[in-house]
Order: sequence, then structure tokens, then C-alpha cells
Amino acid sequence: MEPWILKKESKCFNCSQNTTQIIEIYPNQAFVKCSNCGATRYYIIKNTYIDDENIIESEKDKKMLYENWLLEKDAECYNCGKYYTQDILITIAGMYVRCRNCGFTRSYRFSMIDTGGTK
Ligand SMILES: [Zn+2]
Ligand SMILES: [Zn+2]
Repeated sequence: MEPWILKKESKCFNCSQNTTQIIEIYPNQAFVKCSNCGATRYYIIKNTYIDDENIIESEKDKKMLYENWLLEKDAECYNCGKYYTQDILITIAGMYVRCRNCGFTRSYRFSMIDTGGTK
């Protein structure tokens, strides 16, 4: 399965540079990797469900240690099969991917950081 790949300009938690963070989302796991130092955050799937209330709206403004990232991507939904906007919320604790059409939500939890030993 091809991952969904997104990019976000942000300050890296590891090398502290403002740089491109590369986000790869697979059905059962996801990664956020710094293009400068290679530090990678790993997330693994926690559950999937139909979310009628929009978890992203309620989670996005919660204060975390790092800034929350709110992204969107047009992609084919695994549930409804439509090509539709997927809302993606990434926090230090987890990641949510939610289909705007059917509410199908994948919830990932943060697993580990691999700094690659570069710093
Ligand atoms: Zn970095
Ligand atoms: Zn859908």
C-alpha cells in the first residue's frame, strides 16, 4: 500500500532547525522524519472508528509540549472509497486521520523517537 506523504515546515525537536518534516502515513503506522537530521517519530495504529463528533476539532487546540500540526490531504478513503479531504492532526502524543466525507478515523499513538544518533 502506498503511504500518504505530506510535508510540513517546522522547527525540529531534535536539531532545532526550521526545516521540512516529512510525514508518511500508512494504514497501521506513521512516521514524521526531519529532512535535516533524520530524527524520526514513530506512531502506531491504536484504533479505527467512525467519528461523528470530529475528534480533530476537539483535540487541535489542546496545549501540548510542541505545536500541534493540522494538515489536510485529498486521498481515497479506505472506508467510503471516495476521493475526499482527509484531515490530519499530529501532536506529540498521537495522530488522527479523519475522512471529511464519512467520518472514518484512524487514531495512532506515539511510539518512539529515533534520533539516529546524530545529536
Ligand atoms: Zn532535525
Ligand atoms: Zn470516507
